[in-house]
Amino acid sequence: MDEIRIEDLKIYAYHGVYAEENEKGQDFYVNAVLYTETREAGKEDALTLSTDYGEVCHFMNDFLKIHTFQLIETMAEKTAEQVLLHFPLVKEMDIEIRKPQAPIGLPFESVSVKIHRGWHKVYVALGSNMGDKQAYIENALQSIKKNEKIKNVKVSSFIQTAPYGEVKEQDDFLNGVTEFETLYTPEELLEFLHVLEQEANRVREIHWGPRTLDLDIIFYDDLVMDTEQLTIPHADMHNREFVLRPLCELTKYYRHPLLGKTVSELLETLQ
Ligand code: ADP
Ligand code: MG
Repeated sequence: MDEIRIEDLKIYAYHGVYAEENEKGQDFYVNAVLYTETREAGKEDALTLSTDYGEVCHFMNDFLKIHTFQLIETMAEKTAEQVLLHFPLVKEMDIEIRKPQAPIGLPFESVSVKIHRGWHKVYVALGSNMGDKQAYIENALQSIKKNEKIKNVKVSSFIQTAPYGEVKEQDDFLNGVTEFETLYTPEELLEFLHVLEQEANRVREIHWGPRTLDLDIIFYDDLVMDTEQLTIPHADMHNREFVLRPLCELTKYYRHPLLGKTVSELLETLQ
């Protein structure tokens, strides 16, 4: 991706752990790299096709002057989040906050925190086989669309399928997939999805048993991860037609980072 770089933007502000820092203030320096596509703007010579670095500088200046944080970690975290929320062409950013007058009591040049943050493309499978399935799924989608850390939500069509797994004596499932971009980490996304499941009064009793709402993370960028909490890509997605079929509508050419097959090839293999 292309980069727009801001170097040592000087901002007088009031962040710090000590009361004196919050009262007197001091100079902070911001370095930022905005990852974006500049080609169209460059070809057309049109600012409207790019992100105005002047606007970003003023935005960060205003934000860091209005708020008072204890930590430069928080300054970096919150500023990155705000820039990513307000400048839609910025996909990712690096931000470094330097504090050359930090109260250390020893000679030093500067201390700083540097982080990288951005939007992540994810696919989440939705399923329900209890009660008003359509309503549980609609509610979850509404909450997803309302969440400010989520944007560009797309939804597949939904299909009715017979129960999968061990417990066959239960109602049919309604299944679909949603695609969106998010600022959440995988763990934070799982936590948000669990809240939605809880709101749907899901009773976690029988594994594979009836549920009002099941939300599974299928893909998160090209990430491959395995922890106690989370397996990404979803461990069983390639065996589930009710995931692959709706997923195919949204991203048939996406290549599974471990299996090496596209979504549409996985679906063909299964059929
Ligand atoms: P399943 O979806 O397999 O039918 P559950 O919805 O009850 O079963 O999932 C239980 C746990 O699976 C979740 O609490 C979560 O920690 C874990 N899990 C592992 N990988 C994923 C994933 N990709 N998406 C959602 N949950 C996952
Ligand atoms: Mg689940």
